[in-house]
Amino acid sequence: MRRARLLWQLYASYLAITLLSLAAVTMYASASLRRAYLEQAEVELQERAALMRHQLSRIYHEQGADALDRLVKELAGARETRITVILPSGTVVADSEENPADMKDHSNRPEIVQALKGSAGSDMRISPTLRIRMIYTAIPMTENGQVWAVLRTAVPLASLDRVLHGIYRRIVLGGVLVAVVAAGLSLAAARRITRPLEEIKQGAQRFARGDLRHKLPIFDSEEFGSLAEAMNQMARHLDERIRATVAQRNEQQAVLSSMVEGVLAVDPDLRLISLNETACEFLGIPAGDVQGQGLREVVRNTDLVRFVEQVLQSSGPVDGRFVLHGEFRERHIQTRGAALRDEQGRRMGAVVVLNDVTTLYRLENIRKDFVANVSHELKTPITSIKGFIETLLDGAIDSPTDARRFLEIVARQARRLNAIVEDLLTLSKIEQQTDEARVERQEAALRPTIVAAVQLCEIKAADKDVRVEIDCEPTIHGRLNPPLLEQAVVNLIDNAIKYSERGGDVRVEVKDAGSRIVIRVIDHGCGIESRYLPRLFERFYRVDKARSRKLGGTGLGLAIVKHIAQAHGGWASVESAPGRGSTFTIHLPKTDPRGPRSASTNTA
Ligand code: ADP
Repeated sequence: MRRARLLWQLYASYLAITLLSLAAVTMYASASLRRAYLEQAEVELQERAALMRHQLSRIYHEQGADALDRLVKELAGARETRITVILPSGTVVADSEENPADMKDHSNRPEIVQALKGSAGSDMRISPTLRIRMIYTAIPMTENGQVWAVLRTAVPLASLDRVLHGIYRRIVLGGVLVAVVAAGLSLAAARRITRPLEEIKQGAQRFARGDLRHKLPIFDSEEFGSLAEAMNQMARHLDERIRATVAQRNEQQAVLSSMVEGVLAVDPDLRLISLNETACEFLGIPAGDVQGQGLREVVRNTDLVRFVEQVLQSSGPVDGRFVLHGEFRERHIQTRGAALRDEQGRRMGAVVVLNDVTTLYRLENIRKDFVANVSHELKTPITSIKGFIETLLDGAIDSPTDARRFLEIVARQARRLNAIVEDLLTLSKIEQQTDEARVERQEAALRPTIVAAVQLCEIKAADKDVRVEIDCEPTIHGRLNPPLLEQAVVNLIDNAIKYSERGGDVRVEVKDAGSRIVIRVIDHGCGIESRYLPRLFERFYRVDKARSRKLGGTGLGLAIVKHIAQAHGGWASVESAPGRGSTFTIHLPKTDPRGPRSASTNTA
């Protein structure tokens, strides 16, 4: 519905009041004026009659009715005043306009009746004689205290009306002028009242648009001034509240963002209320505004969705654990969820805290595997050493040939023990450094590291008559830890020599592959069956245990390679096929990636 403007409503009211008042005043003034004018006319007629009374009386008594009639006609002359003399019997004895003989009995005329009673009378009516509206006054003519006749004077109302109409015209003209001025003044007054309201309206609209810093002017009028002050105060309070709320929200956001734990909150319909940056990172969601979106659409992990549903249904806190498969690695997440309650304690959803316990989980597993594997690996050489020492003690020591053979075996087993312990120590050291992010890396050329690694393997290569070839541009640089990388390459070259045929050749190739550097150690040895490849980088994993042992392997070489690659933020992979040789590759990213990737395997 279209609403009328207050200005026009006020203006219309003012105008109506003014015009009505003006009309009423004009009408009243006109009526009063007419009354006063008629009264004045009556008085004048009476006075005129009073002036003539004695002269007429004398003439009538001295010269008779005809002389009187002539005199009244003469006195009236060209004037509009009609003079009539009537006897108490009603007989007209003189009239300035008509022949008295032709005139009827006048005794019943109201003014005459009044005058016959001794006082002045008056009336206003249409004259039956002249057929026009007249105003009559009559006064008694007395002789010795007796009314002997009545002197009536009259004027036609038309002449009075002419004068009155002239005055009316002027009054109406004045009224119209006053109305025009009043209309202008009314508009100005209405404007004056509505202007502050207009400003208040515009100010309120700015407040509604969020411009709470805007100030309404303080008006002179008490009501508008108070209203503007109250609105300014309201806007100030609102602004302060909003600022406080925003600051509080920012603080909360900052706390949530800087938390190492992931936090997500949902409403009872599984719509996200909040999701902090860590949770986004865990769940592989780009950080952004996900508020209001459904958890199922945003989070692909069904375990987490199921867990949140469980939290929503349960009355107390719920704990859970699941694995998130990320792009680069999998994370073991421990979760704790509880009901989310509002200020009144009403349930409004659930909040879930996600804790990345991958490191803890890995350490737990490492510890478990370590104890099992190490005990197993150390058991063989220790049993062997123990057995031979007991044999020696039992008397074999007395046979120099046996004693020497047995001691050589003991020495070999001790060397093996040493090798295992050394590899274990290396592994744990790298692992620890990786976990604590202490692996120092620097921008360095790859070639010197590769050359140094090849040099370390030269004797073994020469023993087996294996030729080791390097293909590495001196310009290739990367962010690396040279001693660690050297050890990884040494392990790979050592394996390549070990599992190559006598006289074979090994190639160490370094290539710049855009976002990463790849180091390949290629041999043409026995190769590995594809079913063994997935577990090749595990600790103590060996395809052929006996052969590995015979060759002095500890089963830890490739695990060390994998960990060194991970310490560089990269990963290790293998391609191999039986009888066609193997290619072991270390992938090093040029920039620091989000996390190390576990060793991957490929079959050729
Ligand atoms: P090891 O000390 O036994 O060499 P590694 O961890 O270095 O332990 O290697 C694990 C296993 O992978 C080896 O026992 C071997 O069976 C296999 N292997 C490693 N490198 C090669 C290679 N270049 N050719 C064939 N098999 C290999």
